[in-house]
Amino acid sequence: MVEARYYEKKNGYIECQLCPHYCKIQPGKLGACRARKNESDKLWAINYGETTSVALDPMEKKPLYHFFPGSQILSIACNSCNMHCPFCQNWEISQTAVKTEQLSPELLLKIFHDHSSIGIAYTYTEPLMWFEYLLDVGELIHNEGGKNVLVTNGLLNEKPLLELIPLIDAMNIDLKTMDPETYKNILFGDLDTVKRTIETAHQKCHIEITNLLVTGLNDKKRDIDRLIDYVASIDKDIPLHFSRYYPNYKYDKPPTSIKRLEYAYERAKEKLNYVYLGNIPAADGANTYCPECGVLLIERMYFRTLIKGLDGTRCASCGKEINIVL
Ligand code: SF4
Repeated sequence: MVEARYYEKKNGYIECQLCPHYCKIQPGKLGACRARKNESDKLWAINYGETTSVALDPMEKKPLYHFFPGSQILSIACNSCNMHCPFCQNWEISQTAVKTEQLSPELLLKIFHDHSSIGIAYTYTEPLMWFEYLLDVGELIHNEGGKNVLVTNGLLNEKPLLELIPLIDAMNIDLKTMDPETYKNILFGDLDTVKRTIETAHQKCHIEITNLLVTGLNDKKRDIDRLIDYVASIDKDIPLHFSRYYPNYKYDKPPTSIKRLEYAYERAKEKLNYVYLGNIPAADGANTYCPECGVLLIERMYFRTLIKGLDGTRCASCGKEINIVL
């Protein structure tokens, strides 16, 4: 473990200032993410390098559809999260303490070199809770010409975000709902912080947004329309992924209705240039089309990716510049 960044000693406790929860941590205790501990009058990142999962994934699995499509990326996860979504699709490793292995920055670098990977994806759980580790390995990977990818809930305070973001090349940010009360009372999050992360990251690196449509939680037409309007208000070129929910963890409502996913897809296509459906076999929901002339640019089927209609970052048919990093 290493000493944590972003905390302040108070009278009898330590206040962690990494995320908007500002946990007040008593001596010997952990913060709400289980990643930071008050010990010997200091705050420690006890999960530094502690890893639950290592896998080589297609970039499309993150999902990132406009960032080096068809590439493979080494993906790793910590055993922490600062949100507590009752439907978490990865709850076994995000919400409960499991066995981890120490992956030092040097060892990670070696594994990176041993695989044909474009970089490292910090994913599956909440990588922002690996803040100090991200700073260290992010720099190492960049020095070796690799890319750093975050798949995140976006729940980080502004100062640490600005420190981290120069090391990040792409982010998929989970925007769960546009309802602040749902964020706060059900998910243990904060909508304004997530919005700030999206808007800041959009200025600095490639971003895509995922919305898990959860039955009975955020799947009303009104909820979907608000989310689409928000993304369009930032930039209609931001790729938006609607993902199908399946019952998991503490949530047993039926999977998202296909009809509602199709509504979200069609509705979003009216305002955004790149819209996708995930966790669902859909005829067109994974393909990329030119927003100008409609030609098929990238065909995707079960993580098999075929670039068909691109000439560099332009549509080969009409020449439109496409929001894509190659
Ligand atoms: S990072 Fe963890 S310990 Fe710090 S405020 Fe957030 S949940 Fe609490």
